[in-house]
Amino acid sequence: MKLKEKLHYNKKNGKALLATNFYNFETLSAVLAAAQNTGSELILQLSESSIKYMGLKVATALAKSAIDQYGVKAWLHLDHGQDVVLVKKCIDAGFDSVMIDASEKPFEENVRITRGIVEYAENYKINVEAELGYISKLGQDQKMVYTRPEEARYFVEATGVNALAIAVGSAHGFYKETPNLQLDLIKEINSVTTAALVLHGSSGIPNEQLQAAIENGITKINLATEIKNIFMKSLQNELRNTGNIDLREVFPVATYKATELVEDKLRTINFEKNEKV
Ligand SMILES: [Zn+2]
Repeated sequence: MKLKEKLHYNKKNGKALLATNFYNFETLSAVLAAAQNTGSELILQLSESSIKYMGLKVATALAKSAIDQYGVKAWLHLDHGQDVVLVKKCIDAGFDSVMIDASEKPFEENVRITRGIVEYAENYKINVEAELGYISKLGQDQKMVYTRPEEARYFVEATGVNALAIAVGSAHGFYKETPNLQLDLIKEINSVTTAALVLHGSSGIPNEQLQAAIENGITKINLATEIKNIFMKSLQNELRNTGNIDLREVFPVATYKATELVEDKLRTINFEKNEKV
């Protein structure tokens, strides 16, 4: 099933997919192992900086061949594409989905830029995600411009976008205080738009809030910071305790910890109503 259809299926059926960022071979294999171990479907996300780090060709080929090798159902997505040229390159390179993030631009410009990518992607029938409202980025003060339901309805109609990242109380990075997702707002936006709703910044959101968000209309949950954090903390810890220079023996310790984390998130997100946390 194409991701576009899958997200609409999720919207209709109160389900969600986990979307995990990867940064290198180790984090890629970590998240795919988690999907394999739990029998889950997954979205693999690359940010612009990860593409810059690996190169578009290597990053794309790595993701696609790893999906094949692990035998899991997974889609490749560009996360927070702010550079229109790169977004188009990712579409041409065979991504299943792209996010065009013009949320920092004025509303009408966000509409115009997003519309342009939706038109470009039409031939490929791939999923296009945009952002409306403002979800603070890493390193920024965690200020929020909540998405307004009426604006969301207009935005989705005007752009033809299939998926929409909404600002409903989450932020990128770790939280200073426990976040409080605006469930009523999610529900209202979900009822007035045709788009599948996306929650960014899920790192550190309690499991029961993630499940409640899904019940109120979230269809895709993005996870990045926690993966980076557990991988690097485990690696740093391992390096303090070993003089082993065989990286093929040292890295897997950290990879395994990231797999455990993603398995827990997958179980949380793929819950059945009778087995909520
Ligand atoms: Zn994000």
